[in-house]
Order: sequence, then structure tokens, then C-alpha cells
Amino acid sequence: MKHAPWMTDDHVAYGDTVRHFLSRELPGNLERWTAQGYVEAEFWRKAGDVGILGASIPECYGGGGLDRTFDAVAFLEYSRTGDTGWGLGVHNIAAHYILGYGTEEQKTRWLPGLVSGERIGAIAITEPGSGSDMKSIATRARKQGDHYRISGSKIFITNGQTANLLCVVTKTDPGAGSRGVSIIVVDTNEAGEGFRRGRKLKKLGMQRQDTSELFFDELSVPAENLLGAVDGQGFYQLMHQLSWERLIIGFMALGACERALEVTLDYVKGRRAFQKRLIEFQNTRFKLAEVATKVEVLRAFVDQAVADFLAGKYDGTRAAMMKWWATQTQCEIVDECLQLHGGYGYTMEYPIAELYTDARVQKIYGGTNEIMKDLIARALDPN
Ligand SMILES: Cc1cc2nc3c(=O)[nH]c(=O)nc-3n(C[C@H](O)[C@H](O)[C@H](O)COP(=O)(O)OP(=O)(O)OC[C@H]3O[C@@H](n4cnc5c(N)ncnc54)[C@H](O)[C@@H]3O)c2cc1C
Repeated sequence: MKHAPWMTDDHVAYGDTVRHFLSRELPGNLERWTAQGYVEAEFWRKAGDVGILGASIPECYGGGGLDRTFDAVAFLEYSRTGDTGWGLGVHNIAAHYILGYGTEEQKTRWLPGLVSGERIGAIAITEPGSGSDMKSIATRARKQGDHYRISGSKIFITNGQTANLLCVVTKTDPGAGSRGVSIIVVDTNEAGEGFRRGRKLKKLGMQRQDTSELFFDELSVPAENLLGAVDGQGFYQLMHQLSWERLIIGFMALGACERALEVTLDYVKGRRAFQKRLIEFQNTRFKLAEVATKVEVLRAFVDQAVADFLAGKYDGTRAAMMKWWATQTQCEIVDECLQLHGGYGYTMEYPIAELYTDARVQKIYGGTNEIMKDLIARALDPN
């Protein structure tokens, strides 16, 4: 792994721990996870035991007490494995919603479990009728005494079959526009009738990821599960976390591109055509030179973003630039790399095929790339 300028010896040591854990634990699981379409709770607990789930959570809640750059190290190490089934990013975001906006009681109640892996987090925003247009969500939470009654449905929820702590985006005041949006935390261990997990969606890629539907039918949730003490804060809470969420997608893109270059170099050095190794053809060499250059540029972009994030200078426009450019570049790189594999690249026997199918969604979730460009354009022309 190349060491970024923002990395200290502690980051390097932490990266070693994450890498050793993943190289020990992933290989024996991948085939089964692909077949079943989800990652078991036991794996989360093992990751929690080695400190991967809560590096940036304060020690008083069971975490490592470090900053978010340590999470960045974990994302980079994980994405370099080529696996995408483990919904680590969403879990991390859920924990930071609670850390950032939860009351002291909520933090004490939920964070230790998210750090240990006893709890698996999910973020439920998207609905069948509203994706990009978040403000038009139809899920309602009606206050009734000391409870909320939640009704509505969510779709495409990462960790949807396995999560037991859901940050559900609802409307507590449908007439108040974005000021009527609230996040309510649903503990599925306590959710009675009124909560149902729907289909695990069949997808083009990310076969090990349990992207699912969730249904709420007058689900009764204690009022103290409203994230933060005041309702109507949900939109603000979402917007404030989105920059980090989009940066995570950048980490995932970088790791996947590094892996694509590595497996392709391996392949073209071994495969022969016309009495030559593929790597001896000028086209192969030029394509790989282009890919290697793009990876370097992406790495520099990501490193600068992390440095700015640390300095508190990372804003939503820069995050939107990262999200669309990193994922567009990822898709171009995996396409070029697959082409260099010929027909074998189209079979699931070669890792480039999975890198290719998994890459496509990166341009869609976390805000589509079109929405990212719209955000950037608005910053260029605020009027
Ligand atoms: C594998 C996967 C995992 C996901 N995980 C989660 C999760 O954990 N939690 C969650 O809440 N959601 C999740 N999502 C949902 C994801 O965030 C949405 O799919 C995404 O925001 C787009 O919404 P949509 O699918 O409804 O598309 P739409 O909003 O219907 O968009 C369709 C097309 O129209 C374009 N479009 C829409 N509005 C505009 C506009 N104003 N200007 C220009 N073009 C526009 C879009 O760019 C897109 O090309 C996940 C999705 C997938 C596929």
C-alpha cells in the first residue's frame, strides 16, 4: 500500500491490522457470501473485536478515540481487496449520525454496539417514489403520546437484511418542507409488528451486499429514538454527513482502481498471443500507462481531500466533485482493464469481472453523478 502524505506511523500500523484481518477472514467467506447474498453478523463482531468498526468513535463509547482518517485507512484497505459485500461505509455513517447528533443517552445506548459489531447500522432514505428528490419522501412519523408511529417503505437499503439499527428518514411535519424531515432510529430487536424486511434485490453487481426493501406499517417507536432532541433536523443532519459519505465513495473508487491495475498487470504479463506476452503489445502498454496515471491523479485528489477534511476545509462542492469524478474514472479504468483480459474478463473466474459489475453503481448511489454536477454548477452560479 502506498502511504499517503496525511498518514502517520499510527495510520500505517492500523492499516496493517486491517489488512491482516481482511486477508485472514475474507477468503474463506466470499464464496458463501456470494451464494447467500449477505455478510453474517459473526463477521461484523470479529471486525469489531479488532477495532475496525469504531476507530473514530470516542473511547467513552467503546471506540478507538481516533479521527476519521483512520476510517479512511480501513476503507482503502477494504476496497483494495476487491470485495464490496460488507456494508462498512454505511455502518460508519450510521455511527457518525448518532455521534454527531444523538443525545448523550442515545450515544451511550447505541454506539458501543456499533463499535463492537453487535449492532449493524443502515441508513434508510431512498423510497420507491423518491431517490434523488429526497425532499419528497413519503414515509411519515406521527407523534402519539410518547411514541412515533412510522408508516412508509424504503428501497435499496444497504445492509437491509442484516442491520439491526436503522436510521430512518421520515417526515414528522409533512407541511414544513425540508424543516419537517427527521431521522428516527429503529432498533429492529425491539421493533414489533409493523416492521418488515422485504426482498433482497437482485442486482447487476455487489452480489454479496444485501440491498433490500424495508416496510413500516404504523410501527411504534419510542419518542426518545428521534435522533437529537428536536424534530425537523433530519435534512440538516443528512446534508452535514454527505460530504464524508461522498469521500468514502472516493476511497472505494481508489482502492478498486488500484486493484484493477494490479490484477490486469498480472494477467497481461502471463497471457500470450502472436508469440508475445500481451504486455509487449504497444496498445497494452499505452492503456496501462494511462490507467496507472489516472490512478495516481485519483490518489492525489483523494489525499488532498483527506488533508482538507482534517483541516475542516472540505465542503459539499468539493465532495460532489470527488464523487462524480472518482466514480467516472473508476468505471473507465475497470472497462479498459476488462478489455485487456479479452473473453476471460467477461467470466466471473477473473476478478476484473466483479470489479467491473461492482463499479457501475458507484455513479448512482450517494447522490447520482448528475445530481453532483448540478450541485457543482449551482456553486459556480449561485444566482
Ligand atoms: C446498490 C445500491 C445501494 C444503495 N444503498 C442505499 C442506502 O443504503 N440507503 C439509501 O437510502 N439509498 C441507497 N441507495 C439508493 C440510491 O441512493 C438511489 O438509487 C439514488 O439516490 C438515485 O435515486 P433513484 O434510484 O430513485 O433514481 P432517480 O432519482 O429516479 O434518478 C433517475 C435518473 O434521473 C436523473 N435525475 C434525477 N433528478 C435529476 C435532476 N434534478 N437533474 C438531472 N438528472 C436527474 C438521475 O441522475 C438518474 O440518472 C442504494 C442504491 C443502490 C443501487
